[in-house]
Amino acid sequence: MTTAFLRAETLVAGGGLAGAAAALGLVQAGREVTLIERETQPCHKICGEFLSAEAQDYLSQLGLDVAALGGAPISRLRMIRGSESVSADLPFPAIGLSRFKLDEALLRHAEISGVNLIRGHPIRKISVNDKILLDIEGIGAAEPKLLMLATGKHELRGAKREFTPKKNSKNLIGFKMYFQLTPAARASLEQTIELIFFPGGYAGFQMIEDNKANLCLLIDRDRYRHCGNSWEMLLTDLKAASPILAGQLTGAEPLLDQPLTIYQVPYGFIHQPSETDPPGLFRLGDQACVIQSFTGDGMSIALHSAALAVRAVLHDQTSNTFQRQLAIDVRAQIKRADTLYALLNSPAAQTAVFEIAKLWPGSLKIAAQLTRVPSKVRIR
Ligand SMILES: Cc1cc2nc3c(=O)[nH]c(=O)nc-3n(C[C@H](O)[C@H](O)[C@H](O)COP(=O)(O)OP(=O)(O)OC[C@H]3O[C@@H](n4cnc5c(N)ncnc54)[C@H](O)[C@@H]3O)c2cc1C
Repeated sequence: MTTAFLRAETLVAGGGLAGAAAALGLVQAGREVTLIERETQPCHKICGEFLSAEAQDYLSQLGLDVAALGGAPISRLRMIRGSESVSADLPFPAIGLSRFKLDEALLRHAEISGVNLIRGHPIRKISVNDKILLDIEGIGAAEPKLLMLATGKHELRGAKREFTPKKNSKNLIGFKMYFQLTPAARASLEQTIELIFFPGGYAGFQMIEDNKANLCLLIDRDRYRHCGNSWEMLLTDLKAASPILAGQLTGAEPLLDQPLTIYQVPYGFIHQPSETDPPGLFRLGDQACVIQSFTGDGMSIALHSAALAVRAVLHDQTSNTFQRQLAIDVRAQIKRADTLYALLNSPAAQTAVFEIAKLWPGSLKIAAQLTRVPSKVRIR
């Protein structure tokens, strides 16, 4: 039996933001690119869906009209713990926009711009010795010279991320649910991203397009177990811990049958390239580095990694050079985010952070700024 073969010199694995942006950047520079995405249709992704200003800039540079997608504008951050809250203006304008809409818009834009998009074919495994060899379900083999590995949170057999999870985040479970809120609750979230802290976790709560609200949370597995591994009971438990959230969810209608979930996110991961890495294998987005979710900067890092990889390819740099540069660009913000998370995870330090924020709301602005891709490294 002969194995079918897909001819593609440059191949992108995964059509999320990182993969679609890299493919788009390369075709805009005149390269031929094939992108393999395992899903046939747009789908929901677990994400707080807070789109920062840098992420919007990167998308605009690629020619995507983000404003036309109808996201909800966000200009304020409100931190909540129990019944106390403190607010500050964000140092940049953000948008609440679903990944369902955003990822599909970017992927369609990539296809219209000339990317050879192949959907509905998961890559089963990869082997990387002296060359890169892929096994693609329903298609066969491919042996690209250049591979942009952008499968996000999903590990690809043969190219698993190497990382020892930190103690304080290895047991976190993530959930995302959409709600239709009452008009009063919607008004309370207008222009606002809320970060709600609980013992053992936190939630992000904000509006997205079409008047929907996104509640995305990360909670210690033990607390979830304590709630009988039930989403409804967990929600009741969190509402009891946060009267402000309880008020906002009164009369709210859940919009998904079940919440989306995720487990064992490798927060703090930064891919360390080794001399034995094949020169044509570029790791992008979550496959290259993972920042704490509360920063709302993962999408921006994913887009930065794509822009940097495109520049590296166009300048004939090896993936090793690219990976080292990416690590330098994002290391400080990822480390600061880890430190902030560790602080907010300890009840005593949490109290101190809240007291400081109440006395000096500008400190929230500084924290938001310090967990961004720094302006000086952004590719324009
Ligand atoms: C709980 C949580 C909340 C978050 N909130 C925010 C936020 O508010 N703001 C923010 O900026 N970031 C946030 N992030 C981070 C953000 O979601 C990620 O950093 C971002 O999605 C990374 O993009 P990506 O393109 O690398 O991966 P993804 O978006 O995961 O895309 C990967 C793509 O690859 C495809 N794929 C996977 N495996 C295969 C395969 N074998 N073959 C072919 N295709 C494949 C998938 O279908 C998918 O389309 C959050 C993350 C978590 C976990």
